Amino acid sequence: MSGRLEILKLWVDPVDLDQALASVRQFVQNGRRPHSIFAVNPEKNYSVPQDPDLWEIFRTADLLIPDGIGVVLAARILYGVELNRVPGVRLMHGICALAAREGYRVYVYGAKEEVNEKAVNQLRDLYPGLNIVGRDNGYLKPEDMPELVKRINSSMAQILFLALGSPKQEKWYARYGRGLETVRVCQGIGGTLDTVAGNVKLAPETWQNLGLEWLYRLLKEPSRLRRQMVLPLFALQVMGKKAKSMIGLNRRADR
Ligand code: UDP
Repeated sequence: MSGRLEILKLWVDPVDLDQALASVRQFVQNGRRPHSIFAVNPEKNYSVPQDPDLWEIFRTADLLIPDGIGVVLAARILYGVELNRVPGVRLMHGICALAAREGYRVYVYGAKEEVNEKAVNQLRDLYPGLNIVGRDNGYLKPEDMPELVKRINSSMAQILFLALGSPKQEKWYARYGRGLETVRVCQGIGGTLDTVAGNVKLAPETWQNLGLEWLYRLLKEPSRLRRQMVLPLFALQVMGKKAKSMIGLNRRADR
């Protein structure tokens, strides 16, 4: 994707929800291979680069959405670019609405069996006409993978939602993505099926609009604290990078 912005050690594409959906449409209509869509947030800025293969999966992803408020603020500070958040859950719902309108075939892989089943039923209710051609829970064994890929291929799915959590879903895509014959879009949706099934509550809209979804999730699931400890460090490093670039600019101007 052109115009990709480097945010510390990862990247993000400067797209809003409509532009992301336009890309999805174009991948499905004109693509000849699977296209990966992954979410970028401050936590991943630290976890992903520790694994060179994972880092490569992100580097070569087809669309990297600005999932978290941290990335949106970093783009503003570093480049003066005003991004809107594109939460993975909203994009997934947008893709379902698009798929229902256009008749795209969808496969849902991931989460616990009962969550997967409930979420698929919920999506069918929410988007009448949505053609979900297959589903599998996310706890299959590695030896079941060749059969899973066969099932996805024979379903002729064009869109695959991967709900294994990060980085499991990105690694799955790196390993098995090449074997997908009809899939044109593969979105990593993490724990989104849990929210669709109603097992995990989304932050109320006001919290989301204030950019405080992270705080809401933290209050609901205090065990996420360790993961969110990186937020202040991320903010500091973004400001450090900005300061360095300004010093560099001033030096050049003085010469
Ligand atoms: N999961 C799965 N298979 C696994 C491990 C996890 O399907 O082997 C699912 C899990 O049931 C949950 C999701 O992946 O639905 C992980 O959710 P989490 O919120 O931790 O992921 P994130 O959105 O933070 O990447």
